[in-house]
Amino acid sequence: MGKLFDYAPAPESRAIVNIGASYGLFINGEFVDPVDGEPFKTVNPASEEVLAEVSAAGPQDVDRAVTAARRAFDTTWSRMPGRERAKYLFRIARIIQERARELAVLESLDNGKPIKESRDVDLPLVAAHFFYYAGWADKLKYSGYGETPLGVAGQVIPWNFPLLMLAWKIAPALACGNTVVLKPAETTPLTALAFAEICQQAELPPGVVNILTGAGETGRALVEHSGIDKIAFTGSTEVGKAIAKSVAGTRKRLTLELGGKAANIVFDDAPIDQAIEGIVGGIFFNQGHVCCAGSRLLVQESVADDVLERLRRRMSTLRLGDPLDKNTDVGAINSAAQLQKIRELSQIGEDEGAERWSAACEIPDRGFWYPPTVFTGVTQAHRIAREEIFGPVLSVLTFRTPDEAVEKANNTPYGLSAGVWTDKGSRILSMANRLRAGVVWANTFNKFDPTSPFGGYKESGFGREGGRHGLEGYLR
Ligand code: NAD
Repeated sequence: MGKLFDYAPAPESRAIVNIGASYGLFINGEFVDPVDGEPFKTVNPASEEVLAEVSAAGPQDVDRAVTAARRAFDTTWSRMPGRERAKYLFRIARIIQERARELAVLESLDNGKPIKESRDVDLPLVAAHFFYYAGWADKLKYSGYGETPLGVAGQVIPWNFPLLMLAWKIAPALACGNTVVLKPAETTPLTALAFAEICQQAELPPGVVNILTGAGETGRALVEHSGIDKIAFTGSTEVGKAIAKSVAGTRKRLTLELGGKAANIVFDDAPIDQAIEGIVGGIFFNQGHVCCAGSRLLVQESVADDVLERLRRRMSTLRLGDPLDKNTDVGAINSAAQLQKIRELSQIGEDEGAERWSAACEIPDRGFWYPPTVFTGVTQAHRIAREEIFGPVLSVLTFRTPDEAVEKANNTPYGLSAGVWTDKGSRILSMANRLRAGVVWANTFNKFDPTSPFGGYKESGFGREGGRHGLEGYLR
């Protein structure tokens, strides 16, 4: 199937962002030079253009940041009444709204995600998260988890939703009276640094939020620092396991949000056209760089041919290209390393005998790209059905009965999310009860809201982010 439509370019202007040539670390309310870390470059994955040089924090920098956070915790933040902390959080939320367009463009430049997603999904959710937890700051006694903050939280986040993951981590921590040292991912540091400026703009007391850029070594130094009371990590299961080992036996509290391999289950009575939109949104949203992506499509055998035909047709209309173009559906893969991982696992899928079909997209000359791809003839034993690909690649399996669907959906080491498509409310409820996943969507997929807790079972981690439950990880 060839390309069905042509579109005139509709690029968002990048003039609204002002990226510095180089950035220091944000410690104690100021941008400072690192003491013992090497600088690194962050690039635009859609063009490979270097956007800025960023500092990598070394162990001494981590120590400075933790010391600043401890001082701020002891002297101001934990002593401040909740209603006063709330004012800062509301102020941050409003500044994020005011600067939303700039932040969306910056996120798309540094991450590669389409502007329509950073503008219409990430940024509204980032602001909503701060508004939501601002509302909790003076109501903690009704939380059910006490009112006493833990102290200094060390927070490490991935590159797929850079500013949104920052909001998920920082908003509840601050609302509960903790101070934070946060490390963004090495490929997407720029919106976290812009957030540091927002903290200055909001006149947040120095040391309440500290941002340390750097790679895995910086994250490790933060996790291992003895002055940290709580570690909150979002990232791969592999690194999550290493962190769990290093924290075991210490007094540090830990929450982990890790990988996933969600089943998106389509029954024969489902509204098929809506389900196709849900399948497409489930796996191609954010180039499939989504921990809860619906990367395993389980479709009832009687409708499988119809679903696959409509799916391929819909995939042929997806527009891949410039993330800043408002028509773009599929942006750039975040890094050369991630592209390599996607290619390798897809090749393994072919070698294992699954049948691959990719939408016919024009791939730009520069940058990191992967076309929306679907594998059929996949069995449970295939690695593409078991391992997280974290890219725009869907594996399709079929089932005959609801029992078989549940059995296949749960046959994974992960348990983050699942989708159910059916006309029957009773089936939705019985499936939701039997699926071992932290979130189950019914007749929709990838919907997020700050009031709703999110988190995993099994190797997808533990602890919840969002909602009242999200306060538990930050209160004693
Ligand atoms: P990653 O684990 O390699 O990196 C995540 C973060 O951890 C980065 O900031 C990285 O610098 C840091 N890090 C790396 N090694 C470290 C170490 N030894 N100690 C401390 N920090 C270290 O993961 P990634 O490839 O950047 O992100 C993709 C993964 O994140 C996927 O597996 C995805 O499913 C998962 N993820 C999960 C959720 C969730 O909520 N469950 C959300 C987004 C992403």
